[in-house]
Amino acid sequence: MRNISHYIDGRIVEGTSGNQSPVFNPASGEQTASVDLANPEEVIAAISAAKAAFPAWSATTALNRARVMFKFKELVQANREKFEAMICGEHGKVLSDAGGELSRGLEVVEFACGIPHLLKGEHSKNVGAGVDSWSEMQPLGVVAGITPFNFPAMVPMWMFPVALCCGNTFILKPSEKDPSAALLIAELLSEAGLPDGVFNVVNGDKVAVDTLLSHDDVEAISFVGSTPIAEYVYSTASKYGKRAQALGGAKNHMMIMQDADLDQAADALMGAAYGSAGERCMAISVAVCVGDDVADQLIAKLKPRVETLVVRPGTDADAEMGPLISSEHLNRVLSYVKQGIDEGATLMVDGRDIAVIDHESGFFVGGCLFDHVKSDMSIYQDEIFGPVLCVVRVPDFESGCELINNHQYGNGTAIFTRDGDCARQFTHSIQVGMVGVNVPIPVPMAFHSFGGWKRSIFGPLNVHGPDGVRFYTRMKTITGRWPTGIRAGTDFSMPLMK
Ligand code: NAD
Repeated sequence: MRNISHYIDGRIVEGTSGNQSPVFNPASGEQTASVDLANPEEVIAAISAAKAAFPAWSATTALNRARVMFKFKELVQANREKFEAMICGEHGKVLSDAGGELSRGLEVVEFACGIPHLLKGEHSKNVGAGVDSWSEMQPLGVVAGITPFNFPAMVPMWMFPVALCCGNTFILKPSEKDPSAALLIAELLSEAGLPDGVFNVVNGDKVAVDTLLSHDDVEAISFVGSTPIAEYVYSTASKYGKRAQALGGAKNHMMIMQDADLDQAADALMGAAYGSAGERCMAISVAVCVGDDVADQLIAKLKPRVETLVVRPGTDADAEMGPLISSEHLNRVLSYVKQGIDEGATLMVDGRDIAVIDHESGFFVGGCLFDHVKSDMSIYQDEIFGPVLCVVRVPDFESGCELINNHQYGNGTAIFTRDGDCARQFTHSIQVGMVGVNVPIPVPMAFHSFGGWKRSIFGPLNVHGPDGVRFYTRMKTITGRWPTGIRAGTDFSMPLMK
């Protein structure tokens, strides 16, 4: 069986801890590999390699750092099919979706290639007699990224391209459920000319994460994953004096107004709720229908489409939805569907007993659609992270907004309407970080920053875009007087610039 190890100091390093975790093909349910789980010594070896590589890498010109990233982008494109097959084989998503994740990740690489411009800093001439003042952005040192299973290539690419281009060295701790893409990324970065030790991968679990969180030589932690772990990572990293950003879970609502184009809304909901089997932090899992008419008409449009979703292995050309990541997660999703019924919601489409021919042991569940979901039900409150769409009926716009604003999560949301006033009011007042108007999954482009509000994020700075550059640098402001011949005199009061 294939063994997946670490990548430290420019080469594959076999694990020595004796601890491993199985990696499955979710479509067949078979174990395809074992991944090594690092012990603290192995993580420290990666930190040491990254620390040793930092002085030379941070001294490399921004333009030359960007050139490595340009080359990396070409190599990822040349290896596109390999990446897609790898992601599909370990995550289960359909091939076109794996390609989409790669493209969105590469957009951040493209953004990071503009780093010479992004690091120009600020300059004020003659703030006093012969005095100039300027701010420059310096890299932090060794930084680490801890990533979830659902985007094994894209989420790491939210982090390391910007971090590396800013002059930091990086340690990636990918999800143990689909770790192969991270190692291919590491190999391609080396091939692109990145010096040894600048980018390292340690595979592992809580032991590896805790070592990164507590080690003195790690300056900053970026995390993406579930909210309880995000909160833990943020508070622990902060306790150890590190800069941290931790993105968590979500429950994204789409509000459908009476004047909306319901065919357009139904198309949008199908992709946003059931794409990637709902395993997206920006998936829509709640349709907020304003008025019973809207709810009835929308459900009439959705129901036959959810019933006939093509659920097959992601490698099948016609597959619309692949399996879930693991049998544990499948059982969790199934238990939520049961809870929804027990709590009194109406299950309009039941995808639980789906049979995928020739793949009976795969982790499949069909699309599920609930109507009459109430805000106190667990299927409404919790992130299910599966292909389960809840319809909540509200009487008017105001109660729809109140519902969304009262939810613990605030990652993404959308409104479908043809009324500009209403859309404007929604975008202004809704307590959510990423908002779409007739766009169901409003994922910001790479040159903007990505992040939610409320319990969907811990820390003040989002990922990539301008916030990414701010996160991976610290600003130094220098005030200098030239020529030295200018006498400023002695002053014992608060210094003023003269
Ligand atoms: P997860 O929280 O289980 O794991 C994320 C990472 O944390 C993994 O690398 C994992 O190994 C590590 N980890 C797990 N348990 C840990 C522990 N006890 N201590 C320390 N580290 C631990 O998340 P997941 O199941 O891999 O991913 C799905 C979750 O990620 C969903 O909640 C989804 O909403 C969220 N997500 C959020 C965003 C966002 O941008 N907000 C993006 C993608 C995914």
